[in-house]
Amino acid sequence: MPRRKNYVFDAANLQYLQHRRRLSEKLIRFMVWFGVSVALTVIYAFIFHRIAGDPKEELLTQKIEELKLSYSLLERKIDYSSAVIADLRASDNSSYRAILDLEMIPEDISEGGSGGTFKFGDLSGYMNTDMMMSVRSKFEDLKTQTNIQYNSLTELTERADEWKKMWAHLPYIRPVEVNIRLGDGLKFREKHPVLGSPRWHFGQDFRCPVGTEVHATGDGTVYYAGNDNDGFGIKVVIDHGYGYRTIYGHLSECRVKRGDKVSRGDRIAISGNTGVSSGPHLHYQIDLFGEHVNPLWYFEDSLTEEEYYRMLDFLSRP
Ligand SMILES: [Zn+2]
Repeated sequence: MPRRKNYVFDAANLQYLQHRRRLSEKLIRFMVWFGVSVALTVIYAFIFHRIAGDPKEELLTQKIEELKLSYSLLERKIDYSSAVIADLRASDNSSYRAILDLEMIPEDISEGGSGGTFKFGDLSGYMNTDMMMSVRSKFEDLKTQTNIQYNSLTELTERADEWKKMWAHLPYIRPVEVNIRLGDGLKFREKHPVLGSPRWHFGQDFRCPVGTEVHATGDGTVYYAGNDNDGFGIKVVIDHGYGYRTIYGHLSECRVKRGDKVSRGDRIAISGNTGVSSGPHLHYQIDLFGEHVNPLWYFEDSLTEEEYYRMLDFLSRP
């Protein structure tokens, strides 16, 4: 495209003359043109930014929204887990810990209680500080609650194992077959059947023919087997631990010796009529920390309500 030429009219000579611009004039024109272009660019950019927004900023805003959503989902999951743990705690307190005679976990301890959000100072000063602190605080509470439940479960398991072991050791069955008639129980006898004098009878007698098998009534260790001339004739004494000893008297034969480990139901002796006895029978006695307790309370099939509570009273003694 040919360069456009400028002309001026020369009135004196009545002719047009080509006008040549000076450099300074050209420079001024360029500066004006450049200034207007820059101004227009800025105006366009501003308008575009207002209408369309900055793409990078848009991306960051989107990411922040996604993070907020993630936080909110996380918070819901934490709330759900806390509710599950609260259910577990309720079962623990109302069932397992109660059954196994363990103290209840106090609510304020098991709730966790992170002590507020003030300790998460590293989260302060951000746009979403409150949201982050809330989630962090709930998460810390959840951690505490989980630890408490874990410890409780460990304690329950240990206590259950301990009780299972103790249960196996306690004298909870009859020493002879159940259809054999009971003789005298634990009571004060005005007149002993052989000695004739008044005295306490500290056990339960089972009238049974000589030769009847006698069973250990709980797990334990044979403490004595033989005859030490104390009136019981040939006898077996089993130490069950937990303060319990059982005595089986007037036997005709021992099937165990001192130190033997026995389990509930093991055949330990044959009944007889030795010692101070008015006829064939088994004298069965339960001592708890040296005190004589009524063996009838220990047979599940023959407990009255009153006997049951008396038994519980005995069991709860230190
Ligand atoms: Zn007796």
